[in-house]
Amino acid sequence: MNPKDCTKIIDTILDYFELSDFEGIGYSGCTPYQILISTILSQQTTERNSRRASEQLFAELPTAKDVYNSDQETIEKLVFCSGYYRQKTKCIMAVTKCIIEDYNGKVPDNPNDLMKLPSVGKKTTACVMRYAFNKPSVIVDTHINRVSYRLGISDSKKPEETQRAIMEKVPSDRWDDLDIAFITLGRNNCRPKNPSCDDCPVKDFCRSKVV
Ligand code: SF4
Repeated sequence: MNPKDCTKIIDTILDYFELSDFEGIGYSGCTPYQILISTILSQQTTERNSRRASEQLFAELPTAKDVYNSDQETIEKLVFCSGYYRQKTKCIMAVTKCIIEDYNGKVPDNPNDLMKLPSVGKKTTACVMRYAFNKPSVIVDTHINRVSYRLGISDSKKPEETQRAIMEKVPSDRWDDLDIAFITLGRNNCRPKNPSCDDCPVKDFCRSKVV
């Protein structure tokens, strides 16, 4: 698929789902540390619950130092609503310890050091680079991977290959738009099973449509 069609697909999905005014994932005013921890809290839960957990946590403990000086029980209570709260609390405490003790209390601003933090993988790194340091990065989750493959943007089902294909074919100033467009399409029409191709807004571009 050529870059022009990729851009057309993104625009078509944004228009169809009336997402053209989407203003990003809602991290404005957050520090890099808060963005990192919010990303951890957002795993395996709904956006609403993770946002609530982040708000509760940062209302009480806004900085890495505050979390470092706090205790497991307090943090567990604050992030309870995000689900998997015990596991997430352990991650938060381990990441925070590392930031305070190894990075002078500052979240590293490069992918190599970010990936060295406990429990921080590629996806979290990409989120932090994009939203905390304004360095765009393609984040390939399960929806983006599936939709990209079905549409033919990527010829591989491997997330790393999909990431490479997107970076080659989609201009970096459209990566945020692709993110929200493909996640929305993946949740609505392009579901893992029984995709709803009949009313898919980009079926004319799709090599995998089921008719
Ligand atoms: S036409 Fe079907 S397979 Fe293709 S993107 Fe739309 S929902 Fe997915």
